[in-house]
Amino acid sequence: MSENKKQEMSEEEYLKRHLNDLETGKKQAEAAAMNSDIPFVAPTVESSRTTDLQFFNMDVRELPCGEFYPTGTLFMVRPAQVREIQAYSMVDDNNFYDIIEKMNDMMQACVRIKYPDGKMGSYLEIKDQDRLFLIFLIRELTFQQGNSLVVNTKCTCGQDLGIELTRTNFVSHDIDDKLERYFNHSTKCYNFKTVNGKFFELTPPNIGLQKAFTDYIVKENNEKRTPNLSFLKIIPFMMPGRSSITYDGIKAKVKEFEDMDDISFQFLNSAVSKMTFGIKELKKNCECGEEVRTDMQFPTGASGIFVIHDAFEAYIKE
Ligand SMILES: [Zn+2]
Repeated sequence: MSENKKQEMSEEEYLKRHLNDLETGKKQAEAAAMNSDIPFVAPTVESSRTTDLQFFNMDVRELPCGEFYPTGTLFMVRPAQVREIQAYSMVDDNNFYDIIEKMNDMMQACVRIKYPDGKMGSYLEIKDQDRLFLIFLIRELTFQQGNSLVVNTKCTCGQDLGIELTRTNFVSHDIDDKLERYFNHSTKCYNFKTVNGKFFELTPPNIGLQKAFTDYIVKENNEKRTPNLSFLKIIPFMMPGRSSITYDGIKAKVKEFEDMDDISFQFLNSAVSKMTFGIKELKKNCECGEEVRTDMQFPTGASGIFVIHDAFEAYIKE
């Protein structure tokens, strides 16, 4: 555990150093806020570049997959603008791929990554399992005046309870204890040696890879071929450092995968099964003191994240 503390210290140092690099002293206020949380402050009017001003800094350690980004990585997130909400509003709630794509589009518009060496990253480098958390963060920034999404549940004491879909009420999947000791803190990957003399390096895939594999699945389906589902579950975790792969690249990986020995396959299948991250549940304390939990869900469908459910009633002038 003291190891963890050390890690946090160095991350804070990174952030401070990063801040010193930022232009001038006018950023001091942001600096103070940055080590804590997102500054919900009114933007200043010193610059005409309004798009810059709308971004809020976020500590990667808040993300479910935070520990898989280079230490000192900074996320910048801004509220969704009307045109982005308009595009998102056309999401097909019954089409899983469309939901993912619309969410990706939203992140492309609203999220920036800055690495500790100063390089800017693309939204494609965001971990796939951080998508939902970031979408709800964008939502919180967009609807600061309320418009909360609520999941209704009941406490064991009989009290009805509404749990808002906000970051404070999210419970992430725990990282499996058995994995922890194989985590390489410099490469942000798990390193495994197996009894059959193999070495594997695994890390959660990012959105770039997810998109490439989705394109592959769509193409296979269109051409009446059944994709190897076990391959699609495992292989994206075995491509650290990559945020793209071509169709032919995937075909070659399928071949390798199908020729794999039995122990390797069984091991990888089991290892990847332990790598479920992201938002698992919602929690809130009841008046009786009991903590109430319920499954993560979208009460008004995926579209309802940015489309106000009863806007007609809410906004009509009587
Ligand atoms: Zn209760």
